[in-house]
Amino acid sequence: MSDLVTITHYIGGAPRDTRGGRYGDVYNPALGEPVARVALGTADEVAAAVQAAHDAFPAWADTPPLARARILARYLQLCQQHTEEFAAMLTREHGKTLADARGEVARGIEVVEFALGIPQLLKGEFTDQIARGIDAWSMRQPLGVVAGITPFNFPVMVPMWMFPIALACGNTFILKPSERDPSPSLLHAQLLKEAGLPDGVFNVVQGDKVVVDALLDHPQVQAVSFVGSTPIAEYIYAKGTASGKRVQALGGAKNHMVVMPDADMDMAVDALMGAAFGSAGERCMAISVVVAIGDAGDKLVAALERRTAALKVRDGAAEDAEMGPVVTLAAKQRIERLIGEGVEQGARLVVDGRNYRVAERPNGFFVGGTLFDHVTEDMTIYKEEIFGPVLCVMRLPDVGSAVELINRNEYGNGVAVFTRDGGVAREFVRQIQAGMVGVNVPLPVPMAFNSFGGWKRSLFGDHHAYGPEGVRFYTRHKAVMQRWPNTASAGAEFAFPQMK
Ligand code: NAD
Repeated sequence: MSDLVTITHYIGGAPRDTRGGRYGDVYNPALGEPVARVALGTADEVAAAVQAAHDAFPAWADTPPLARARILARYLQLCQQHTEEFAAMLTREHGKTLADARGEVARGIEVVEFALGIPQLLKGEFTDQIARGIDAWSMRQPLGVVAGITPFNFPVMVPMWMFPIALACGNTFILKPSERDPSPSLLHAQLLKEAGLPDGVFNVVQGDKVVVDALLDHPQVQAVSFVGSTPIAEYIYAKGTASGKRVQALGGAKNHMVVMPDADMDMAVDALMGAAFGSAGERCMAISVVVAIGDAGDKLVAALERRTAALKVRDGAAEDAEMGPVVTLAAKQRIERLIGEGVEQGARLVVDGRNYRVAERPNGFFVGGTLFDHVTEDMTIYKEEIFGPVLCVMRLPDVGSAVELINRNEYGNGVAVFTRDGGVAREFVRQIQAGMVGVNVPLPVPMAFNSFGGWKRSLFGDHHAYGPEGVRFYTRHKAVMQRWPNTASAGAEFAFPQMK
C-alpha cells in the first residue's frame, strides 16, 4: 500500500475508489516527486458513472433553467471563496506559478458567469401565423449524458469551459480529467454538491485511455468534448462520431506572432515574454514562433536575449517566480531533445535552457527559457508543437510571406500581428487561416461570452468551445408547429404543405 493520498472517482454524489487496482503517480513537478496517487478507472466504473448520470438526467432536464442557474450562482461564489485552494492545487500538481494559477481560476469562473444567463440563452424564436391558425417556434433541449476529457495544462479552467454550460443547458456530465493533475476535479465536484447540485448530475471518472475508450464506446453518452493534443483529438473525433456521438475535439497548436518593423518593439517584447514563457510555454495559445519582418529581427532578438536569460525560473509557489517547471520528467527530456535537434538542424541557439538548475529544488523538472534565431520551416522545432519554454524566431522579408507561411502550417489555433499600420492589420485579419487572431494582443483567448476554437488540425468538429457555440453544442434544436382544433378543418391534404 502506498502512503500517498488517493485521488478517487466521484460518482452519484460520492467519492469512490477504483476496484481495478491500477493507480498512477501524481507528481509535484517542482519537487520532482510524487505527492498523490490517482485511481485509474475501469470500463465498469465508467458504466456506473453513466448510469448515475442517466438516472439523474430526467429530473435535472426538467428543472427550470433559472433554478439550474441559481445552483450555478452558488457554485460561482464557492469558486471565488476557494480560489486560493484551487491555485495551490494547480501549482502543486501542474507547476505553474501561483499568480498564473489564480488567473486560470478567474478565467474558468467567467464561463460560470456566462452560464448564469441560461434562461436568456435558451430562448427560441417564435413566428406567429405561419399559416392560417398555425404558429411556429423553436426550442433547444439538452442532449442527455455528456462527457468531457481534459488536458493537463488547465486542469481547473478547461473543465469549466465545458460543464457549467452543459449543466446549465440541462445535461448531466462525466468529467475525465488529466491523470497528471487530477485534484481540482474533486474540488469542483465537492463545491457543486455544496451549491445544491443533485447527486449524479456531475461525476468524475479518473484514469487514462481505458476510461476514454469506455466513454467513447458507451451508447448512452450522447456527446464528448475533448481538449488535448492533435493526434488524440483526431482519434476521439473519429471514434466518437463513428458511434453517432456529437464531438468537439480541440487539439494542439503552433501559434505565430508576426512583428512588423513599425511595431512598438517594447510592447512586442513584453508581450512575447509572457506569451512564450508564461506557464513554461505549456499553453495551447502560447506563442512559440515569432515571424520578424524586415529589420524587426535584430532589435527583437537583442531584447529577447537579455530578457530570456534573466527569467526567474523557480518553484511556482515562490511569489517572485515568473516561470515554474514543466509537468513531467518525460516532458523535460522531450523538450531538451527537441532543443538539441534545433541545434543539429542549424538554428542559432541564442539562449539555452537545457540542464537548468534551481538550487532549492534540485530534482524539479525545470527547463530554462530558450531562444532560437534563424529558424526555418523544415526544422523539427518549427514543425512540432514543443509545448515548453522555447521561442523560435524566423525572419521573412514581408507580411505576405508571413501569411503564406502561417496558412501552410497544419495548425490554426491562435495568431497575432504587431504593427502600427491599420491597413496591414486589417488585411492580415482577413487573410489569415486561424480561429483566434490578435492585433497587438499576443494571446487572443476569447472571453466567456465569445467562443474559443482553432481551425485546421487545431479543432475537429463543428462547434467551438463555450460561449454561444457551447450552448449550441450541448443542446438540440427542435422546431414546433402548433394548431388548435377550433380552427375550421379543411380536411386532409396530400400535397406538400404550403402557406395559404
Ligand atoms: P493529451 O492529448 O496527451 O491528453 C489529453 C487527454 O486525453 C487526457 O485526459 C489524457 O488522459 C487523454 N489521453 C491521452 N492519451 C490518450 C489515448 N491514447 N487515448 C485516449 N485518451 C488519451 O494532452 P495533454 O498532454 O494533457 O495536453 C497538452 C495538449 O493539449 C497540447 O497539445 C495542447 O496544445 C493541447 N491543448 C489544446 C487546447 C485547445 O484549446 N486547442 C487547450 C489546452 C491544451
